[in-house]
Amino acid sequence: MIDAASSTAHCPLCSSGAAALTLPHPSRSMLSDGRVIPRALTKMSCLACGSAFHASSAAEVDIRAIYDDDYTLASAAPKSDVARARAYGDWIRGEFNPPRSILEIGCGSGALLSELLQTWPDAHACGVDPALPKTTQSQRNITLVRGFVEDIPTVAGTFDLIVAVNVIEHTTSPSAFLRSLHDHLAPNGRIVIICPDGHSPNVELLFFDHLYSLTRDGLRICGRGAALAAEKQIPAPNNIGDFQMSVFTAQTDNSHTPPADATDAARLHSDRQSYLDGWRMLDQFLLERLRSTANLLSFGAGQTAALLRAYAPQTWARVASLVLDDPTEAWDLGPPVALYRHAVQTPGRPTLIATTPRVQQAVAKRLERDGLYPVTWNELIPR
Ligand SMILES: [Zn+2]
Repeated sequence: MIDAASSTAHCPLCSSGAAALTLPHPSRSMLSDGRVIPRALTKMSCLACGSAFHASSAAEVDIRAIYDDDYTLASAAPKSDVARARAYGDWIRGEFNPPRSILEIGCGSGALLSELLQTWPDAHACGVDPALPKTTQSQRNITLVRGFVEDIPTVAGTFDLIVAVNVIEHTTSPSAFLRSLHDHLAPNGRIVIICPDGHSPNVELLFFDHLYSLTRDGLRICGRGAALAAEKQIPAPNNIGDFQMSVFTAQTDNSHTPPADATDAARLHSDRQSYLDGWRMLDQFLLERLRSTANLLSFGAGQTAALLRAYAPQTWARVASLVLDDPTEAWDLGPPVALYRHAVQTPGRPTLIATTPRVQQAVAKRLERDGLYPVTWNELIPR
């Protein structure tokens, strides 16, 4: 039974009551780039619009400090970065007519803009990112700027298509963020917001730097606060995963508003809590499964492995080596990294599966075929 009245927190988006979520660890949490920070994560789930948010509003300066030179999500795995840009590029291209100008907020290395300009070569593009990789340079029709929205030079003018992929959930005020994008929007332009799908409980709840987990209702409310109307709200294609796209236009008197989304916010709160309970129990679950087994391999050295390090620390302490088909994709998580094809030369080696739960059974079959002893946990956390 959820008792919203027992909570003092109100949803910053819709001002309705919210219920607390119990996070997996009482004193530590993780940033989405894998860093573990000694701060408890406390989040709330709104009982009206269904969005989740931090229980205590983090100071903006704290959040900005996260995106300094140490924030390396894009450059940690160069091939994944390109593959991700291609998938998002295909999705965005399929939804829009060729624009004359594109602005991307949070452009990382600029991979998505390069991808879009292959199809739209006549467009000029501008990308901004507070953690623009040092090796990145502006190209012929792409200008890259290190900074935030307010650092976009005014001479850049306005843009037909403004894209922000996986940015809005990091902002202290999604509404203020959309307002700042609106300031750069050309007449009849479109703002494309892509972010994790707040309707399906997923890893973003475990990230300290995801200040919001947004539902379609939540996004529409933020849009209204920025004089924007949601023209379209769609889930991502399967190859992209638990993400969603909202397309905004400047609000006019007769702006078309999609019918209200009957978010079952109470059920969403309970689904989120079940998901988080899985992560809270994961360390114990794996220790029981492993018994005295130590000297583990970890198959995978990306975000899921980082989550295991943060939220299943006793299990992670038994990992001796990370194995990957391509070690250049490995995040720096402590243990040494080795080639998978070398690891399979020691048959029967217990191997912790550190990939997203959805693909663990398929990965386990491959490891078994290769003579390893896979340890899965998707029975506890199915997705
Ligand atoms: Zn709300």
